Amino acid sequence: MNILAIQRMPGILSTNIKTLPSIGDKKALLLAKELGIQTVEDLIYYFPYRYIDKRTYVKINQIQSEEVYIQVKGKVISKKIIQGKGQRLIIRFSDETGATELVFFKGLKWINESLQIGQSYVIFGKPTKFNNTFNFPHPDFELLSKHLAKPAEQFLPMYNTTERMKTAFLNSKALSQIIRSAFYFINGQIPETLPDYIVTKYDFFTRKESLQQIHFPSSIENLEKAKLRLKFEELFLLQLEHNVTKTNHRERSQGFIFGKVGNNFNDFYNNYLPFSLTGAQKRVVKSIRSDMRTGHQMNRLLQGDVGSGKTLVALLSILIALDNGFQGAIMAPTEILAAQHYNSIKSFLKEMSLNVTLLTGSTKQSERKKILPLIADGTIDIIIGTHALLEETVVFKNLGLAVIDEQHRFGVQQRSRLWKKNPDSIPPHILVMTATPIPRTLAMTLYGDLETSVIDELPPGRKSIQTVHFYEKSRQRLFDFMRSEIASGRQIYVVYPLIEESEKLDLLDLKNGYDAIERSFPLPDYHIGMVHGKLKPEDKEYEMNLFKQGITNILVATTVIEVGVDVPNASVMVIENAERFGLSQLHQLRGRVGRGASKSFCILMTSDKLSSDARTRISIMCQTNDGFAISEADLRLRGPGDISGTAQSGILNLRIADIIKDEPLLKEASRLAEFIVSRDPQLLYPDNALLRKYLLSKKSLQDYSQIS
Ligand code: ADP
Ligand code: MG
Repeated sequence: MNILAIQRMPGILSTNIKTLPSIGDKKALLLAKELGIQTVEDLIYYFPYRYIDKRTYVKINQIQSEEVYIQVKGKVISKKIIQGKGQRLIIRFSDETGATELVFFKGLKWINESLQIGQSYVIFGKPTKFNNTFNFPHPDFELLSKHLAKPAEQFLPMYNTTERMKTAFLNSKALSQIIRSAFYFINGQIPETLPDYIVTKYDFFTRKESLQQIHFPSSIENLEKAKLRLKFEELFLLQLEHNVTKTNHRERSQGFIFGKVGNNFNDFYNNYLPFSLTGAQKRVVKSIRSDMRTGHQMNRLLQGDVGSGKTLVALLSILIALDNGFQGAIMAPTEILAAQHYNSIKSFLKEMSLNVTLLTGSTKQSERKKILPLIADGTIDIIIGTHALLEETVVFKNLGLAVIDEQHRFGVQQRSRLWKKNPDSIPPHILVMTATPIPRTLAMTLYGDLETSVIDELPPGRKSIQTVHFYEKSRQRLFDFMRSEIASGRQIYVVYPLIEESEKLDLLDLKNGYDAIERSFPLPDYHIGMVHGKLKPEDKEYEMNLFKQGITNILVATTVIEVGVDVPNASVMVIENAERFGLSQLHQLRGRVGRGASKSFCILMTSDKLSSDARTRISIMCQTNDGFAISEADLRLRGPGDISGTAQSGILNLRIADIIKDEPLLKEASRLAEFIVSRDPQLLYPDNALLRKYLLSKKSLQDYSQIS
């Protein structure tokens, strides 16, 4: 048998857990349902969340918390059985600092015989507070002499289990026994995943040692060493996959060649561009241009803070596509955003004879019937829309470039549906844009397979925005400030949070807020407008226009204005109940001001009492205007799983590594992956055989060998 044949043999690790003697059908079903564990490999990769150090004994007068399992060394001083609804055995147990009670409800006879008055034991359990003292319901116990004679199992692994599992007696302890039995079953057959040279370079444990140690550590040092290897492996394999995907894509994918920059681009650039590009915009357009003439498909992520001018970059790139005889499309996650792109692109192109169309869910059927054939025959040059673009009825003549805005709100599958929109099956170039700057570590993990560009410069003339925190009790001061700003000709947004679950309440908040403002800013001196998601589109538009024209002084709104309005004369953003907004949303809202000539303000109104997280968010907002700093802080505060959109991506379901705490490790893993792939893109060197095998199993290599 040659080596490859051995490698392809289904490993023992992929055995179904039902095969384990310790698991019947019922437990197997429960493990699959509750934890997604199906194979022996899944099982041994289900790691403890913490360990109890069985070498430490807590003194009875030092017991503090109900949450943790602890060990206590002491003597049984008395016992009594209480008769009642159910019998109870209560044992007084003391050490030199005090006494506590052990309470048993089941197996009383056996326990009563086992625990002898005057004997020393070690008990192990979770203290529970009762009448201001702690007792131990159903602790484990062992004779002290026996306990001391037994060196093994110094650390007790604790596993997360669900309520359902606990009800079925599949608690942490039971799970630990099952995992132990899995190791007996495997009998040491845990193949290595990392090449020798990597294991040696970092002096790692083998995979087998690491997995054993992480479940049943023999010392703190070994546990740390096991964790290090497993974290590195997790981060490294992910980075390796990204790098291989990216390199293969760059070298093997097929893409349209946009060889020339022609009339559309030049005409617009030379005659109709209303301002000069920022340095960052120029740089990004240049990389996009060179991406699109390689003959390979562009797959680029463009990050830029709110207001950094991404739309224009998208437009210029699309003009290059048009110059080469292709169509361009922009897909946005909401109707408002799509309409905003449509309006600004229409206005950029108003002097040019190009056909631009908007297609969203609310495009009327009759209108649709007219548009679809024009998209299919190439009459329409630029199509802007929402998910509606993905419907099967939408067929392009030749889509050359698809721009996806705020892509984190789309799933990966949705994105790839755009790829299949061309009749001849060559995918369009893809430019993904996001205004939610993604911290570097997160970007590496999430989008490591994309080329990335950053617009790190705002158009000139943007005024920095001063952000101030006001408590409810200072509302009069806020109103005075608003009056003086209005007196000097400025306009003001007042925004209320809208959280879908309690939409009614929020609208009530909005209405009450509107009434209060109306009382303090009465007609005829002041004009106040109100917009929210429940308004008819034409009414919303009407209100927005009054504000744009400067007729309305104060616009009271829900977050519908988070995107979509650009009113340079508006210089104050008041955010009500600011404690209820997340950091990135606060930052997006703030980006609506600071677009004109005058100094701008963002005022965060909160109730007088704040949670400590809310306090931190508010103070970060007051300290910085930098979107990247804010998203870094957001990541730290909430953890990567909650950053918008990343939760559903699944990529961040890391088992053990933490991209924040393990940042140095992530960087090292990424550096190594890049180095390996740059030398051996297909991982064909014998040294890299294990890595190749892994990626083939993940299909990251197969996908591309099919394309080429
Ligand atoms: P975002 O990156 O948030 O999508 P936009 O593309 O909406 O930003 O641009 C914000 C505003 O800045 C728009 O009014 C746009 O016309 C303007 N803008 C874009 N680029 C420049 C530039 N180079 N100089 C001046 N204003 C610009
Ligand atoms: Mg935008």
